[in-house]
Amino acid sequence: MIIAIDGPAGSGKSTVARQVADRLGFQYLDTGAMYRAVAYRALEEGVSLDDEPALARIAGSEPIAFGESGPGTVSIAGRDVTHEIRTAQTDRAVSPVSAWPAVRRALTDQQRGYGRSHDIVMEGRDIGTVVFPDADLKVFLTARPEVRAHRRGLQNARRGVGETDEALLLASILERDDRDASRSAAPLAKAEDAVEVDTSDMTLDEVIACIVDLATGERP
Ligand code: C5P
Repeated sequence: MIIAIDGPAGSGKSTVARQVADRLGFQYLDTGAMYRAVAYRALEEGVSLDDEPALARIAGSEPIAFGESGPGTVSIAGRDVTHEIRTAQTDRAVSPVSAWPAVRRALTDQQRGYGRSHDIVMEGRDIGTVVFPDADLKVFLTARPEVRAHRRGLQNARRGVGETDEALLLASILERDDRDASRSAAPLAKAEDAVEVDTSDMTLDEVIACIVDLATGERP
C-alpha cells in the first residue's frame, strides 16, 4: 500500500507522515530530504545551481540512505548530513536544485524503487501527481502560512538547526512555495483525487487520526 502525502513547506508533512507510518507499521520516506541532500552536496562541492548535468550526476550517483547513523538520520555518499540539510543555506538552494528535470528523474526513480518493495508513507510535493499517481491514498496537507512559519520555527529550535525567526521563515517558506508551484517539472500541486486536509486548527493527534482513518477505510 502506498500513502502519498503532499503539501507546501511547513504544513506538517514530515511529522504527520512519520507517525502515520508508525501507527500502520509502514516504512516512511521523506523525499524532501533527498532533494535537500543533493542541494547540500552541490553547495559543498561548489557546483552551480544552474548546472543541471552536474546536479543530476550527484542525484544519480551519490546514494542517499535513511537511518544509517541512527533513527531519523539522512546520509549521502556514506556521510551523515542530517543537520547540514536543514540549514537556512540549504533551504535557499533546494528549490532551484529540485526544479531541474534531470535531478527529478534521478530521485523519482529511487523513490519508485522504495515504493515497489514496501508498504510506505511517502511525503513530498509530487508524490500523488507524478511519483505514484496510482497511490492507494493521497492526502494534500495545507495550513495557513503564519501557522506553517510558526511550526517550522519550533521544529528548527528543537532540532537546533535552521532559521528560527518567524518573519524570516514566513518569507522563505512563501518564496519556496512559489518556486515549487510554478516550476514546469512536477510542480507542487494537489492531485485531483487527493483529500485536502487543512491542519491550521487541528492538533497533531487529530491529523494523524484523520489520515489513519482514511487509510483503514474508517473515514469515507
Ligand atoms: O519537504 P521539504 O520542505 O524538506 O522539501 C524541500 C524542498 O525539496 C521543497 O521546497 C522542494 O523544492 C523540494 N521537493 C520537491 N519534490 C518533492 C519533495 C521536495 O521538489 N517530492
